[in-house]
Amino acid sequence: MEAFDLFVIGAGSGGVRAARTAAALGARVAIAEQSRVGGTCVIRGCVPKKLLVTASRYRAEASDAVGFGWNLEAKGHDWSALRDGIAEEVGRLEHLYRTGLDNAQVTIFDESASVEGNGRVRLAPGRTVWAANIVVATGAMPSPLGIPGAEHCITSDDVFGLPHLPARVVIVGGGYIALEFAGIFKGLGTDVTLLHRGPTVLRGFDADLQHAVAAAYLEQGIQLRLNTSVRSIEALARGYRVTDQAGNGFDCELVLNATGRLPNSMAAGGALALDQTGAIVVNDRYATSMEGVYAIGDAIGQLNLTPVAIRQGQWLAESLFGASQSCPPDFGVTPTAVFSTPEIASVGMTEHHARATLPDITVYRANFRPMRASLARSRERVLMKLVVDKRSDRVVGLHMLGRDAAEIIQMGAISLQRGITKREFDRTVALHPSVAEEFVTMRNHD
Ligand code: NDP
Repeated sequence: MEAFDLFVIGAGSGGVRAARTAAALGARVAIAEQSRVGGTCVIRGCVPKKLLVTASRYRAEASDAVGFGWNLEAKGHDWSALRDGIAEEVGRLEHLYRTGLDNAQVTIFDESASVEGNGRVRLAPGRTVWAANIVVATGAMPSPLGIPGAEHCITSDDVFGLPHLPARVVIVGGGYIALEFAGIFKGLGTDVTLLHRGPTVLRGFDADLQHAVAAAYLEQGIQLRLNTSVRSIEALARGYRVTDQAGNGFDCELVLNATGRLPNSMAAGGALALDQTGAIVVNDRYATSMEGVYAIGDAIGQLNLTPVAIRQGQWLAESLFGASQSCPPDFGVTPTAVFSTPEIASVGMTEHHARATLPDITVYRANFRPMRASLARSRERVLMKLVVDKRSDRVVGLHMLGRDAAEIIQMGAISLQRGITKREFDRTVALHPSVAEEFVTMRNHD
């Protein structure tokens, strides 16, 4: 029987990092992947999505350019050129990931695998290999929509391979994927209707951002229906009809189910304890209910973010094969972005959370038209918000909606991580003229 020091199931962001780190520390490592090396982020998530977002923003850029003296003749958009260009880039990255594993002398099994028992991994052809340590890093999969006609929906995974751009799409959901793909489709020229069961989109985000993105989407002509639960989907002679609980029908060419992702715990093989959502249960050192078996990333259903999985994989490999006995990573200050258009990014506490947990807070807000909007004659706006713990003067939350929000909040996250105070923000010299300078010049508070 083949034997390894570490067997990783799933070659996504977390799994690949765990495998490469362990191999660099001298471990004999194998990794199994049933689909494509790179996982959700590289193959059907963050990377191709961000490229679609970029593509979708050129339409508004071209119209803004007119105000700056440019006469750009729009000749339409070629979906197949974009789709194929993205596919090529994804293929290049997949190759790089694979080469990285090869160079690190990680054995790759291009097949599915599952935990068979203590120290044993079952490969799809029925073969068993032995491994002193097993890491399950199998990610998550789209959550099915449990209504009649749900089989007619596509998921975000399928968007990257569409034969052509639909004229009209209905998106069900109000989270990251729903907002991001609504912006993508709208920017590329598709009519978008977004049906969300809740009273506000992006549950968990700061309320000002939730309202500002909803307002921006309505202004762009996206039909945003809140408090709207979907009852059924039926196929028409051409396209589909989505019907809500009140009996309203929404006809479209494509229905996108964006109602969340569920942990993919098939690889647990029935041998590991799962919680009620199907996530693999782990302790604070990522150990599962079976000795020598660990799980990381979306499969444990905690923070479904690529950098989180990477950090978990790195730490786990170092703690198993390195000398390091450091504490597990702390994700208390984890920035996050929604690549809607306008973009949203946040780090730290929302105003609501801060009010509920701290005795006294101060909230600073800026809501303005950026300089470029005047010449562009666009209605683009920026919203920036700082939440401060009044007692300690510490900045506990940074939130932004607007162009480059993710880039700006990433930098702000360093300060929050270091426990920065509002006084230190104020002492920082502004970089003028920029949008980001607003964060160090905020004087007006509630
Ligand atoms: P989210 O959890 O962000 O959103 C799911 C949405 O679907 C919510 O609005 C939820 O409503 C709604 N919903 C859930 N179940 C149903 C149902 N049965 N019927 C109708 N609506 C329903 O999931 P996503 O699929 O958008 O994304 C999955 C995860 O992937 C995210 O949580 C995120 O961690 C990660 N991701 C990160 C990205 C980034 O970093 N930019 C981009 C894309 C994904 P309600 O709020 O009422 O529960």
